[in-house]
Amino acid sequence: MPKPSLQEQYASLVATLNRYGRAYYVDDAPLVPDAEYDRLYRQLEELEAAHPELVTPTSPTQRVGGAPLAAFTPVEHRFPLLSIGDIFNAAELSDFNARMQEALGAGLISYCAEPKLDGLAVSLIYEHGILVQAATRGDGRVGEDVTLNVRTIKAIPLQLRGDFPPLLDVRGEIFMPRDGFERWNARARENGGKIFANPRNAAAGSLRQLDARITAKRPLTFNAYYIGYVEGADLPATQYERLQYLKSLGIPVNPLVQVVQGEQGLSEYYAAMGERRAQLNYDIDGVVLKVNSIAAQEQLGFTAKVPRWAVAYKFPPEEELTKLLAVEFQVGRTGAVTPVARLEPVYVGGVTVSNATLHNEDEIERLGVMVGDYVVVRRAGDVIPQVAGVVTEKRDGTQSPVVFPSVCPECGSAIERVEGEAVARCTGGLICPAQLRQSILHFVSRDAMDIEGFGDRIVEELVAAGKIHSVADLYALTQSDLASLLIDPGNDNRKPRLLGVVTARKLIKSIEKSKRVPLSRFIYALGIREVGQATALTLAHHFHHIKELMQATVGQLMALPDVGPTVSMHIVDFFKEPHNQEVISRLTAKPEELLFGAGVEVIDEAEDFATAPKPLAGQTYVLTGTLSMPRHEVKAMLQNLGATVSGSVSKKTTAVVAGEAAGSKLTKAQELNIPILSEDDLRALLNKYQA
Ligand code: NAD
Repeated sequence: MPKPSLQEQYASLVATLNRYGRAYYVDDAPLVPDAEYDRLYRQLEELEAAHPELVTPTSPTQRVGGAPLAAFTPVEHRFPLLSIGDIFNAAELSDFNARMQEALGAGLISYCAEPKLDGLAVSLIYEHGILVQAATRGDGRVGEDVTLNVRTIKAIPLQLRGDFPPLLDVRGEIFMPRDGFERWNARARENGGKIFANPRNAAAGSLRQLDARITAKRPLTFNAYYIGYVEGADLPATQYERLQYLKSLGIPVNPLVQVVQGEQGLSEYYAAMGERRAQLNYDIDGVVLKVNSIAAQEQLGFTAKVPRWAVAYKFPPEEELTKLLAVEFQVGRTGAVTPVARLEPVYVGGVTVSNATLHNEDEIERLGVMVGDYVVVRRAGDVIPQVAGVVTEKRDGTQSPVVFPSVCPECGSAIERVEGEAVARCTGGLICPAQLRQSILHFVSRDAMDIEGFGDRIVEELVAAGKIHSVADLYALTQSDLASLLIDPGNDNRKPRLLGVVTARKLIKSIEKSKRVPLSRFIYALGIREVGQATALTLAHHFHHIKELMQATVGQLMALPDVGPTVSMHIVDFFKEPHNQEVISRLTAKPEELLFGAGVEVIDEAEDFATAPKPLAGQTYVLTGTLSMPRHEVKAMLQNLGATVSGSVSKKTTAVVAGEAAGSKLTKAQELNIPILSEDDLRALLNKYQA
């Protein structure tokens, strides 16, 4: 084939970017990650700079955003909603600052530095303090009327407070917090609802719904960043003060906005936000740097597409394009088989990623992913990397379907999938080395038997060397068994090394230390399906002794608070299994009673519990928002101290514990003047009473 002419190359780049742009702006369903779009966009810019004669009016460099959807009423913006020029590195930052210095004839420039929220821009019109219209950016000049939808977003005031002007056009970003996004997708995965690729698409897709009742159910929020237009007010003279003014009217403004000085201030802010990025509960894809003085902004003005007084300094991407090399299947403690994508290593979200979870068979089907595909990998915050989508247009016929195995890759037992469950399981039980490894890792973990020092590699070797066939065998290990283990240090090409006597001695010591254990930890350590710490505690308080729990019927179990039919069945099934009975009798028998008895002494904590002081008796707490610990565990801890934990706020509530993104319960508590505790306050309260 002849090499395409420059003209053809240009036309094809414009067409590709326009196709990607339409999918992103209009359909809220991007075809490629932003990083890929940005790379192509840069190529186009370079081509246009070198050959200005090529530029066509349909080039994406010539316009803002995408066309508004015809399904919504069009709204003409009084003052256009623009885009912002992007920069990607320190040299470009330096150029920007130099440009500003030159244009303003100034030495050190004050900037207002703001996080670049990754959602979608809206304009909110307030007349006499009342929200009368909300519109999307659209093509910058004409947007879509989304007033009804925006009215459902609790962070956006319907009525301003304070000293509001007769007419105000506020610009800002609607976005979906990460926890809300994760929760939404987790629920959608279970119930077959719509799954979003990332919080930005989730926000855009949720807002642009024809039925506002749907928007109301989505966890959206808002931060303002600009005043587009005002009548009847003298606004402050800087961007920063204007944001504070908006705050005084009850409009939320991002708390990380700061005034910084000169290039150094800008680069420090960029670095600081880059570090905080992972911990934030919302996606930011960079920082927006604005000349702070409004007079200077007016002097600099706008191009057709962007303000000259601002740039968006982008972070390295949290989504990237890479190739799916293979799918492997990992087996967990309860036999759950999880498909894991092996990827061509790619730098994303600040680390090099070569594996990502694919969750389960349904997810593979939903993604329609094939081995050899180019996929979008997403790693945001500390969330484990995910395959967020497939770039089907990059298929070349070499791709092959992902085949879900019917037998366990580790032990060859059949894999079963119970009707109505998403998870497929290996039926091998503890014959399966994978399940055995995971059950040992759970048994030794901190909240279970707390046996220090047993990491992945040691456990893997113990199982592979045939030294452990059940958790009871841990207690039969000798120092020489452990010292002679050959540990593979991983994939950094170093040779396996002996574990050694010193480490072996330490491990034996921690095993010894674990031999006196409260019943609740012992129950939790057994790893019964769906029995977490809170359920283990309930069981321990009720049954006092492991033998009694082993005899319990489904009916007896279901009568306990917070113990449902499924977990009751798992408990009964677990204890029916002869292998499990044998492990428990070996764990609890003394060596003189039983050959290889482990001599674990299980303490009945119920008596202590019954006689322990109940400092929070008579008090009622309500939990709301996202807490860093599972909610049922916080509940169990409060209940242990005698408190009642209720689902709704009333005048009788002692205090409301509010985690991140707390909603209506928090508002109600504020209305009723009920004390509100942060997670730190709660921890202090629990620490005060817990030994
Ligand atoms: P932009 O997103 O880079 O920047 C402008 C927008 O930033 C504003 O409209 C506003 O919504 C937002 N913003 C957030 N915080 C702000 C703040 N503090 N102050 C001012 N504005 C703030 O520009 P754009 O024109 O909306 O779109 C370009 C982006 O869209 C690029 O990141 C590009 O990768 C992505 N995109 C991706 C695809 C794709 O196929 N994946 C296609 C088109 C565009």
